[in-house]
Amino acid sequence: MPGIDPEFMKKRQKVSEHGGHAVWGPVEPPSKLGIHGTNVAVDFDICIADGACIEVCPVNVYEWFETPGHPASEKKADPVREPDCIFCMACESACPVNAIKITPP
Ligand code: SF4
Repeated sequence: MPGIDPEFMKKRQKVSEHGGHAVWGPVEPPSKLGIHGTNVAVDFDICIADGACIEVCPVNVYEWFETPGHPASEKKADPVREPDCIFCMACESACPVNAIKITPP
């Protein structure tokens, strides 16, 4: 499965901030939403709102964010508490579509 580009920090640009974390473009709403977060990065264009990451995270990093009109799903797991991540990798392993890339500092 293709999944999030592990090289996204080299290949993409930070285009904005959202909920305290960076957004890596391209962003063209509602169909292209980019990657949210850096050390805890979720490719919103791949996320299907499965919710496994939200369930497994021991420190509650994620919150749902509504994304009406996006072709993959109408809500996304947003890493709003990215600084709380303890890099256990549970979310990256649990994601059924490989939308998450965890990069310990
Ligand atoms: S790596 Fe672990 S602590 Fe960090 S966001 Fe994923 S599940 Fe939560």
